[in-house]
Amino acid sequence: MKKFILSIDQGTTSSRAILFDLKGNPKYTSQMEFTQYFPKDGWVEHDPEEIWSTTLKVLKNVVKKSKILKGKILTIGITNQRETTILWDKYTGKPVYNAIVWQDRRSADYCNKLIKQKKETIIYNKTGLLIDAYFSATKIKWIIDNVPKAKQLIKQKRLLFGTVDCFLLWKLTGGTNHFTDATNASRTMLYNISSNKWDKQILDILKIPNYILPEVKDCSDDFGHTDPKITGESYSITGMVGDQQAATIGQCCFEPGSLKSTYGTGAFVLLNTGSKIIYSKNRLLTTIGYRINGKTTYALEGSIFIAGAGVQWLRDKVKFLTKASDSEKIIKKLKSNHGVYLVPAFTGIGAPYWNSKSRGVLSGITRDTGISEIVRATVESVGYQTYDLFEAMKNDGLRPKIVRVDGGMVKNNWFSQFLSDVINVKVLRPKVEETTALGAAFMAGLKIGVYKSINDISKNWSLDKKFSPKMKKTTRKKLINSWQKAIKRALIT
Ligand code: ADP
Repeated sequence: MKKFILSIDQGTTSSRAILFDLKGNPKYTSQMEFTQYFPKDGWVEHDPEEIWSTTLKVLKNVVKKSKILKGKILTIGITNQRETTILWDKYTGKPVYNAIVWQDRRSADYCNKLIKQKKETIIYNKTGLLIDAYFSATKIKWIIDNVPKAKQLIKQKRLLFGTVDCFLLWKLTGGTNHFTDATNASRTMLYNISSNKWDKQILDILKIPNYILPEVKDCSDDFGHTDPKITGESYSITGMVGDQQAATIGQCCFEPGSLKSTYGTGAFVLLNTGSKIIYSKNRLLTTIGYRINGKTTYALEGSIFIAGAGVQWLRDKVKFLTKASDSEKIIKKLKSNHGVYLVPAFTGIGAPYWNSKSRGVLSGITRDTGISEIVRATVESVGYQTYDLFEAMKNDGLRPKIVRVDGGMVKNNWFSQFLSDVINVKVLRPKVEETTALGAAFMAGLKIGVYKSINDISKNWSLDKKFSPKMKKTTRKKLINSWQKAIKRALIT
């Protein structure tokens, strides 16, 4: 009799539920998109009730689709868009404001104020994060300072904070369990990653009351049971992990030195650094990779803002492509990039430069430059940006030993090969593409004994295709030199 683990993957643009068999193969999927709100320039919001209603709908859909009998879903794991912030009333469950999404920049000025007050070192040493509007802390502060209902509920001690994982758990358990996991906590900029506690000093600096925060559990832990009034049958919830960390687990990057890189809209690179906290001198973030049985494994993280989004821009804005996958055919027709480079700094540049003011540059164009060169330059730029992250890691004394990739862009074989060529490391693409949802399922299954250990989980990873570096050293050097010249131009603001 087949048994399954249900994974909830609540992402930035859609909510998904996937039923995995116990070997980690996705069997049934349901997905729903939801509304994105952009109330002002730089503001991005979601309606928490819509996050919840779409999540519940996909959960029910997938159970219905699978037509499986009672008792076949062993447990649930949750993974989620990280940092996105929700505050709600403990008694009514009603959010006091929309969810402020990780992309939202409204608290950037307040962050600059904290930097001017010289709080950067304290916050970096405690949380591993650079002060930025990206993380939850200053989003919480904004709601508390600007939403009258939040002020009123604080006085009555009935305001609760949670990232999306925590809010969904609260809803699924019928408004009883207010828990999060260590990976999500580590992205709030309020969590001390050495002591594994909410940090009193940072809470005092931001004037955020301690009692609104959830209890922080391991990624593989007992999070309670769903309320049968809501989900029909009551399921246990035993896995919770933020999306990028979930992909790291889904890719079985459990060895120190193993790295996963996800190429979706943006790209997120996580390097497992083991039980050691490594502080980067090159502006990479230090974060919790996962916590199992109370033991924390740390990671270094670098983010590239524009990866697949560059291909989206080619398709939707400049209309050089009908579909994203056409990029591969177009690029393959060219023997070289003809000296054309695109720095896709459409919204600034992320790690390791962190320059929010810089904007895109297209360099090396001649009368001979056409659509193909620009398409190639856009796809190549994602390889070069990864190279820059790898250099930053190298300067921190770290050399990734294993590179596993996922996300929509790696379906492009030309890109995956170019990536391997430019970073000069083997690149491995797994059979299961749904690594994020899979990571949450693995954590849930570990807790209930479906998997005995991390080693046991690793046996379920299997290779689709391996890409080995083939490019000549001199060619690589030439390309990288020209890219660096283009980046310098983009950094002039
Ligand atoms: P997200 O989870 O961020 O929505 P996905 O992992 O689904 O992203 O990947 C979608 C992204 O990958 C899109 O930005 C798209 O432009 C890009 N993409 C998809 N297929 C290809 C391809 N064959 N070549 C290049 N880019 C691609």
